Amino acid sequence: MSTFKAPKGTYDLLPPDSATYLAVREAIAAPLRNSGYGYVETPGFENVELFSRGVGESTDIVTKEMYAFTTRGGDQLALRPEGTASVLRAALEANLHKAGNLPVKLWYSGSYYRYERPQKGRYRHFSQVGAEAIGAEDPALDAELIILADQAYRSLGLREFRILLNSLGDKECRPVYRAALQDFLRGLDLDEETRRRIDINPLRVLDDKRDDVQKQLVGAPMLRDYLCDACKAYHEQVRELITAEGVAYEDDPKLVRGLDYYTRTTFEFVHDGLGAQSAVGGGGRYDGLSEMIGGPALPSVGWALGVDRTVLALEAEGVTLDLPSATSVFAVPLGDEARRVLFAKVTELRKAGIAADFSYGGKGLKGAMKNANRSGARFTVVAGERDLAEGVVQLKDMESGEQEAVAVEAIVGELKARLG
Ligand code: ATP
Ligand code: MG
Repeated sequence: MSTFKAPKGTYDLLPPDSATYLAVREAIAAPLRNSGYGYVETPGFENVELFSRGVGESTDIVTKEMYAFTTRGGDQLALRPEGTASVLRAALEANLHKAGNLPVKLWYSGSYYRYERPQKGRYRHFSQVGAEAIGAEDPALDAELIILADQAYRSLGLREFRILLNSLGDKECRPVYRAALQDFLRGLDLDEETRRRIDINPLRVLDDKRDDVQKQLVGAPMLRDYLCDACKAYHEQVRELITAEGVAYEDDPKLVRGLDYYTRTTFEFVHDGLGAQSAVGGGGRYDGLSEMIGGPALPSVGWALGVDRTVLALEAEGVTLDLPSATSVFAVPLGDEARRVLFAKVTELRKAGIAADFSYGGKGLKGAMKNANRSGARFTVVAGERDLAEGVVQLKDMESGEQEAVAVEAIVGELKARLG
């Protein structure tokens, strides 16, 4: 063991478990790729201003969780805590919204960083796959994203997740509600910090996890009673569209989410097997974000799904993904001549697209066969001096245990045929 360990709140992804992570990322991305979303990649850090303005000065993400730092050159940067602000920044910078092709639909996959108190399902470095549809106000787009996330989870075999849905109103109706909520909250018995929150971000108080706070919130004004007609009609259409697709959801009038940029549609995917860290993904509409970061009005909607928690959800439901073995053929040479011949065969198989591996380090038959077993290969090719003298190699089917001699020149063709 080395002197070094992974930093607090982080963990390494190693085989064989890492294969599940890759498969989860792929499963979330597949429905997006299939629905007109193009891949986008942005830097791991941005100007800190992008997040303080975009995500919001009053959010936990910006005030408590952001890894912000000053570079040697004096730039104020932050490791990205989320993806939406960066993706929108990139789209605006490249003028994608001016290409006359709205909405601009993008998907991403990457690492995000938040200085949180580490616990199961809550890390300082974690992975998300996300999608953003920029520049269109259309309830069908909100519905599309919810349906695609549902499809992604289902394709993984997850069943015990729920979709929570709410509308946060828009710049017409939300301020009226905000004022009414502030009036109500000011009459409660709350601690100093929560009282401060009433002024800067009163909706977040609804999200307080403490029992004594939740008890006092009974009878608080609800946003749904304040929605303007346009927001109400929009929300009704989103609900109708996802219902028509058979996607079940629950109305959650208290769902607010921890980012300031959300308007209208907001949703969260929760999994009931995860304990306190139950949110596996979340998203919503962010019609005002572009203007908040200096762009034109571009109504948009998106989500981000947490890869780490999705993997934990699979474990919680006892789902094991049916992953193909990484190696199809394992070659075991016995002696120098066999080494030369089989190494060439392995290279040829790989060029033909067949996953093949080789016994390195001059091992004996016993040790090499152990490696072959561990590799999960369907076939093993063994060759010793006597085999080669007869112009053959031994082909072993690792499932049936059957072994037969195959001519050296025929082995690649034979393996191609058997592996389909
Ligand atoms: P939470 O309420 O659990 O703090 P959040 O609202 O901060 O979640 P989002 O910013 O909406 O989360 O991020 C989307 C998803 O990313 C979450 O649903 C979760 O699956 C994942 N996620 C967020 N923060 C972390 C973290 N610190 N560790 C692991 N996954 C995370
Ligand atoms: Mg959080």
